[in-house]
Amino acid sequence: MASDWKTRTKLVHDGIRRSQYGEVSEAIFLTQGFVYDTAEQAAQRFQKIGDDEFIYARYGNPTVRMFEERLAALEGAEDGFATASGMAAVNAALMSMLRAGDHVVSSEALFGSCLYILEDILMRYGVEVTFVDGTDLDAWRAAIRPGTKAVFMETMSNPTLDVIDLRGVSDLAHAVGATVIVDNVFATPIFSRALENGADVVVYSTTKHVDGQGRCLGGIVLGTKDYIRKTLEPYLKHTGGAMSPFTAWVMLKGMDTLDLRVRAQASSAQAIAEALAGHEGLSRVVFPGLPDHPHHAIVTDQMDGPGTILALEIRGGQAAAFRFLNALEIILISNNLGDSKSIVTHPATTTHQRLSDAQKARLGISDGLVRLSVGLEDTGDLIRDILDALKHI
Ligand SMILES: *Cc1c(COP(=O)(O)O)cnc(C)c1O
Repeated sequence: MASDWKTRTKLVHDGIRRSQYGEVSEAIFLTQGFVYDTAEQAAQRFQKIGDDEFIYARYGNPTVRMFEERLAALEGAEDGFATASGMAAVNAALMSMLRAGDHVVSSEALFGSCLYILEDILMRYGVEVTFVDGTDLDAWRAAIRPGTKAVFMETMSNPTLDVIDLRGVSDLAHAVGATVIVDNVFATPIFSRALENGADVVVYSTTKHVDGQGRCLGGIVLGTKDYIRKTLEPYLKHTGGAMSPFTAWVMLKGMDTLDLRVRAQASSAQAIAEALAGHEGLSRVVFPGLPDHPHHAIVTDQMDGPGTILALEIRGGQAAAFRFLNALEIILISNNLGDSKSIVTHPATTTHQRLSDAQKARLGISDGLVRLSVGLEDTGDLIRDILDALKHI
């Protein structure tokens, strides 16, 4: 609420709406609807809804509103709309503004469900989508044309951690009046400077670092007041992607510690990457915080930190990668990320198994590649767990 507050203050206090009881912790308003004093008041509210007024939880709810305002304040966005999952947010951000005949340019290195929306759903409704290698600015320049309506990208790709030059792509998009929409999960809301670098709309799966403790699915779309209220809200409130008030409360509690957690996880990730660099069992250690990462300069220039995920390529392909996963004692085999518990994933056989061999090869998803989401455990314990497991490959 105070614009000069620093991140940690915003994360604890911003957006709070206290009831008449003066509760310290944010209240859960687990209610679908709201009563009106009079018939006239109901009629008036349906005509024009005020800032602290609600009609129905699919349109908005006080607990959800607290969460939206807190995350918008953190990102520096004018407004936000919270959703039931990250995918509901990605879908609404795109579907609410596009129509048949529009042209979209997208990075091809996308989360599988994002790819489905762009490649299957949008195309089916007559939106033309051109896919490019997101790290190649010349490819974006060649694909973006007068009339292009939007560009879409994951600012840092999953699982190979390529980092897109957001400022460069935004300049090209804005030159033709296209809206820049970014899925910013891997960058995290703590290290993001997406709006400053040209993004118009920022989307998060808050299932990841914002909850950060493996409990609830959630998402949010952030942008200008005009885009959120005039373009996005009509779509979301009528199609039913709203976040539950209980989820919003869990997310608010997650935000109290978000900065502490993400910074601790990122510094652990950095230490792990440095400890593993040059290990004989690994053909690649990919972490955007390492100076030899191909896009290290973009991270330094356009973000406040390197994220909490690393990718390791195990020598010996899938069999060796599986032996590594199975030998880990602390780190869990799962597919979430940004959690307080460290999690390892084998993308080629799980999250990215739908891709063809050619697509996998183009995106660098080899049989030996594993993705490691670094949690809050002791860094030394994690390094020991990884080094011990690597003895089994
Ligand atoms: C997890 C994820 C999503 C989807 O979020 P859900 O909350 O699982 O729906 C979208 N994009 C990226 C980059 C993700 O990591």
